[in-house]
Amino acid sequence: MLETVKNISKEFSEDEITFFIDSDLSKYSTMKLKAKGNLFLVHNEEALKKLIVLLNTHKLNYQVIGWGANTVLPEQLKSILIKLKFPFDKKVIDPTVSEYHLPASTPLNIMTSVAQKHGLKGWEVFTGIPGSLGGAIYMNAGTNLGEIGDLITEVRLLEPSGSIRVHKIGSSDFSYRHNHFVRDGEIIISARIKHRGIDSSISQVIKTYLEKRMETQPLKEKTCGCMFKNSQVQYSNHEITCRAGLYIDIMGLGGFGLKKDLRISPKHANFMENKEMASRSDVVSLIDFTLNELEAQYGIQFEKEVQISN
Ligand SMILES: Cc1cc2nc3c(=O)[nH]c(=O)nc-3n(C[C@H](O)[C@H](O)[C@H](O)COP(=O)(O)OP(=O)(O)OC[C@H]3O[C@@H](n4cnc5c(N)ncnc54)[C@H](O)[C@@H]3O)c2cc1C
Repeated sequence: MLETVKNISKEFSEDEITFFIDSDLSKYSTMKLKAKGNLFLVHNEEALKKLIVLLNTHKLNYQVIGWGANTVLPEQLKSILIKLKFPFDKKVIDPTVSEYHLPASTPLNIMTSVAQKHGLKGWEVFTGIPGSLGGAIYMNAGTNLGEIGDLITEVRLLEPSGSIRVHKIGSSDFSYRHNHFVRDGEIIISARIKHRGIDSSISQVIKTYLEKRMETQPLKEKTCGCMFKNSQVQYSNHEITCRAGLYIDIMGLGGFGLKKDLRISPKHANFMENKEMASRSDVVSLIDFTLNELEAQYGIQFEKEVQISN
């Protein structure tokens, strides 16, 4: 594979794609786990189209990574990581328009700053979530204020064949931390996102929410957000939401680890903190241990929220 990857790299200029071949990739996920492999940083859409066709022709597996804020990378990657870094002019997002067309690599924190500045109603739902717009759409990221999927109207995707597919969002395209329209091998290139009008109170809503996150989440640690999805459970004729973090906390597992480099966060028990040089297998072991304990003690099967890569 290495030889093919090197040959592919010769087809592109530095302005099109930056190649990191057989490199340390630990900084490409927010959990900063030990990770080594090939990463292609793609700077424009035309280069991405050409690259995808080449990778598919050579039958090389690839996966997209945004900020890696919800991704657990393996020590040795089997597939190629593709990270988009398309040009983004902040002026595009500064004037208030009813709908924005933004590249998938747009950072959510820039969007939050704009929402705070102009009072864009609806955009408070992704307050404080680290990541790219593409990653947030893929995951239908959200907080208890709402989900990003409710604001997305159209998504442009690159198909494995190199063609563009434009998908108009319908009512069943998103569910809790899940999208139902990105097909295998497709890459989100850009999206249209609306807001619900201008509301001067949004700025304060965002400020208060950011302060609350600072108090309740281990934002200074190396984590990838919530490891488990909350679970809906039927209880005497009605559905209740079981918050994974709360249940882990009640079991007394806050601060617990199986190895010295990785522990369940004492601040928020749905997070795991990489203290030094933890690896994917450490994370998988602690996930399995926690899921087994949750099932044994409460009879509830929680699902992983985090994406475990190969
Ligand atoms: C401190 C912290 C707090 C967090 N809090 C929250 C929270 O409150 N709510 C929440 O929902 N999440 C939260 N997360 C998780 C994470 O921030 C979100 O899931 C975010 O949307 C991930 O974006 P990303 O760009 O980092 O995606 P990545 O982790 O890089 O990727 C996630 C998935 O999306 C796919 N993907 C990424 N980009 C594309 C693309 N362009 N095309 C196709 N597929 C793509 C990847 O292949 C992967 O499967 C938190 C994480 C951290 C570290």
